Amino acid sequence: MKEKGLLIVLSGPSGVGKGTVRKAIFSKGGTKFEYSISMTTRKPREGEVDGVDYFFKSKEEFEALIKQDKLLEYAEYVGNYYGTPIDYVKETLDSGKDVFLEIEVQGAKQVREKFPDGLFIFLAPPSLSELQTRITTRGTESDDLINNRMKEARKEIELMRLYDYVVENDQVEAACERINAIVQAEHCRTERV
Ligand code: 5GP
Repeated sequence: MKEKGLLIVLSGPSGVGKGTVRKAIFSKGGTKFEYSISMTTRKPREGEVDGVDYFFKSKEEFEALIKQDKLLEYAEYVGNYYGTPIDYVKETLDSGKDVFLEIEVQGAKQVREKFPDGLFIFLAPPSLSELQTRITTRGTESDDLINNRMKEARKEIELMRLYDYVVENDQVEAACERINAIVQAEHCRTERV
């Protein structure tokens, strides 16, 4: 086996359930991937904890990180910055562990350029109307924000052909099983053994 870990990128439109699927994957235990906690300038939602859900930063702090090249990728999404800390990702991959990123599509494109050998998985909603229902019933966003998120989602879905795999999130458990199977298969590819 090669010593370096695999970089796994789970992407897709906001509200499709990336967070839920990711949490379900990690809650099982026995998962060998390390989750990379992102930085964001978005305010914490109720129940979110700094250093667990995100590292919450001010705009100034985030822009300083960009200047210092501390981010593997970053994107401005619906008025806030989101980004992946580069040192954590590199150190973890170098130690032989797989790293799991859960990010939106602009960021995934940047990661693809820097890590063409990564595994890129697009989590797709069963339909756009189902996505709107999911974002609305989450109840955390105003109508304007929901409309912006839906606009982004339409653009994001057009980009799914750029990914290695598309997993439909019809049922969380089923989506997790497909993702785990894809990762296992990736580890068995001839060029990785
Ligand atoms: P939310 O505000 O719902 O937590 O996240 C909004 C969007 O930003 C989601 O699609 C989420 O996956 C994405 N996101 C979270 N962390 C990162 C990151 O580090 N980089 C990028 N590019 N997107 C992220």
